[in-house]
Amino acid sequence: MAKLIDGKKIATEIQERISKGITRLEGRLPGLVAILVGDHPASLAYVSKKSEQAELVGIRGEVIRLPETVSEESLLGEIDRLNADPEIDGILVQLPLPPHISSKKVISRIDPTKDVDGFHPINMGKLLIGEGDGFMPCTPLGIKELLLHSKVDLDGAHVVIVGRSNIVGKPLAAILMQKHPNCNATVTLANSATRDLSGLCQTADVLIVAIGQPEFVRKEMVKKGAVVIDVGINRVVDESRPRGSRLVGDVAFEEVRHKASMITPVPGGVGPMTVAMLLQNTWSGYLRRQAATLAESVS
Ligand code: NDP
Repeated sequence: MAKLIDGKKIATEIQERISKGITRLEGRLPGLVAILVGDHPASLAYVSKKSEQAELVGIRGEVIRLPETVSEESLLGEIDRLNADPEIDGILVQLPLPPHISSKKVISRIDPTKDVDGFHPINMGKLLIGEGDGFMPCTPLGIKELLLHSKVDLDGAHVVIVGRSNIVGKPLAAILMQKHPNCNATVTLANSATRDLSGLCQTADVLIVAIGQPEFVRKEMVKKGAVVIDVGINRVVDESRPRGSRLVGDVAFEEVRHKASMITPVPGGVGPMTVAMLLQNTWSGYLRRQAATLAESVS
């Protein structure tokens, strides 16, 4: 039976460490602003959770809500204002945005030193070339932390990532392939056109699935003793539950757990790490900003 990788516990430890650091501060606290356009219930829930968790560790969390009809120009103006605000260390814009607004333009407008989601092209570029002074996207960074905490040896391991989105698969591949300690993996990035996906998955020492297809990965696709990281969050009908539904991952957990050596549950695996990494990025951004201010004042 696989050992459970408890993302909730690891995320809590990280948040406690950040909180301890913040309680020692004198002067201004770190500030994180989330911009939400429209009132999509899932987006509202994500943003509220992030801001709530930020407040819990001592980060000043603010949510700016703009109507669905807001113009692209006004949204960009709001970002310019936050970029210029010395009290703000992190800015995130909850995606997706309405179709009349270009998310590419919006993300590129955020000051890269405040881009705590790590989606700005400059931060993505730094990630690819292995420069450590940018921000990495929160979900991939959280997965790296989970593997590190679980002492999974990635050096020379074959990691198969299924799903090549810009927010999970691609940056995760870039992180794990670096010639860095705790990385240095041989990474294969699969997509919906991959031939013999099942055969490929069976060659994985570490199998990471981020496709948004409920319980897609069955036990036949997993090598015995593999480490399995399930990024998917899918709501499926379940009349036996009070809400009439339940959350499942992209992996058929109950059968795969008997074959894997370690596995993340859904919920309680990758999800909590995403929020913890957002707070960690904000905290790092704050520390860098404070160090730069100090350096300026003594030069
Ligand atoms: P996207 O929809 O942006 O990308 C899905 C990727 O999966 C695409 O590359 C697609 O391939 C690939 N794919 C889809 N079906 C298959 C298939 N049958 N075989 C192989 N590849 C397939 O998804 P995201 O990356 O945004 O999210 C993926 C999942 O992770 C979702 O369930 C999402 O809710 C969850 N998620 C969880 C987070 C967390 O914090 N735990 C954070 C972010 C996402 P192609 O490119 O060829 O179309």
